[in-house]
Formats: sequence, C-alpha cells, structure tokens
Amino acid sequence: MNHVFSPPPVVSVPVVGRSERFPVHRVYCVGRNYAAHAREMGFTGREPPFFFLKPADDALVIADGQGPTPVPYPSLTGDLHHEIECVVAIGRGGRDIEAADAGQHIFGYAVGIDLTRRDLQASMKQQGRPWCIGKAFDHSAPIGPITEAAQAGDPSHAGIWLKVNGNERQRSDLGQLIWSVGEIIEHLSRAWELQPGDLIYTGTPEGVGSLVRGDVVTGGVQGLVDISVRIV
Ligand code: MN
Repeated sequence: MNHVFSPPPVVSVPVVGRSERFPVHRVYCVGRNYAAHAREMGFTGREPPFFFLKPADDALVIADGQGPTPVPYPSLTGDLHHEIECVVAIGRGGRDIEAADAGQHIFGYAVGIDLTRRDLQASMKQQGRPWCIGKAFDHSAPIGPITEAAQAGDPSHAGIWLKVNGNERQRSDLGQLIWSVGEIIEHLSRAWELQPGDLIYTGTPEGVGSLVRGDVVTGGVQGLVDISVRIV
C-alpha cells in the first residue's frame, strides 16, 4: 500500500530473555489506585477505578537498562512529577473479562514511570477539563523491559519503589493496590475491548514529587527489571 507519507514504525518493548519484542497497541493508565496516594491528592481512596490514556507512539520511552535513558524535561510545566507504577502487558485481548480469568490475558509485567505535568493537571481538574495536557504528553511514559508472567513472581505481593539521585521517594507493595490487576482488567475490558499489545499502568503509591533537569530516577518492582532514566 502507498501512503502520502511514511507511516511511523511500530513501537515495541523488549522482552527479557527473548529476541522478539512486544508490539504496543494502547497505553492505559489507572488513576489513584493506592489509598495513601489518593489521600495525598485530596481524595478518600474509596472511589471506583478510573482510566486515562497516553499515546503509544510518542509517550513511551523504552528504557533498556544500558545506563539511565535520557528523558527530556517537557514544555509548559514547572512541576514535573514522578509516579512509579507496575505495568501490565496484555497478550490476549477480550471484552467483559472476569477478574478471575484476567491472568489468561496477561503476557507479562514491566516497571514504568507515569510522568505528570502536575501543575497543568491541577489546573485542568480545577476547571473540570480533560487531563490530557497534564498526562498524555510526549515522552511521558518511560517503561523498562517486560518480564513474562511465568517468570515475574507473585505480582499481587511485590515491593515497588522509586529513588531520585539515590534518595528514596516512593516505597509500597502491590498488595496495597485498591483495585487488583484482575479487577482493573475486569473494569477496563467493560469500557474498551482489550487488544494484544495493550499496556496498563496500574497506579502509583504515595510519595510522588517534583523532578528537575539532571535528576536520575531509578525504580523497581520486586521480580521485574529496574528502570533508570535521567531528566535532561
Ligand atoms: Mn499514575
């Protein structure tokens, strides 16, 4: 087929121990999915899950582990925040998936950072407008390599942490998720038909905070490959 200009290449994430990569379809994110983070953002932590998306093509930054991966400090903000998250990689699509069956749809897991222009997000929230400008900007979704589910240990109870320049900012456990991975997939697949290649950022624990140019941000989830980025 001929196009009026060259279509962009497929965005893909490396898979631990394999030469084949994981081709990305969509990037979903869950908001306020740890009670202590919901409280630090001024909410109760008892609301149903809600979702937003980031563009797969320009938001993802593949952090391949060969030293800190550069991430440009974005435009329009003076308050860029880090949010460490466990990312679920969907290998089999479906709609109306029951939480108990969700495991059959999971290819694997990775460590991601949901970078947020907090000042813009707060302004949009205050005006009742969409969050896109605060969340869905270019280079806003660094992600490390995907570990296949069978090798990833028990993701329902795994430590999650983030450090900035070696100083710990966030630490929790996936056992603290308000909505479990299975429940997230159940809710999400009622609203959208999930496709192979979908990524789901499952929410961040408490301790979010600002980044400046030069910061080295490292993070991890027990059983998965750590992520490391430098804000430039
Ligand atoms: Mn988030």
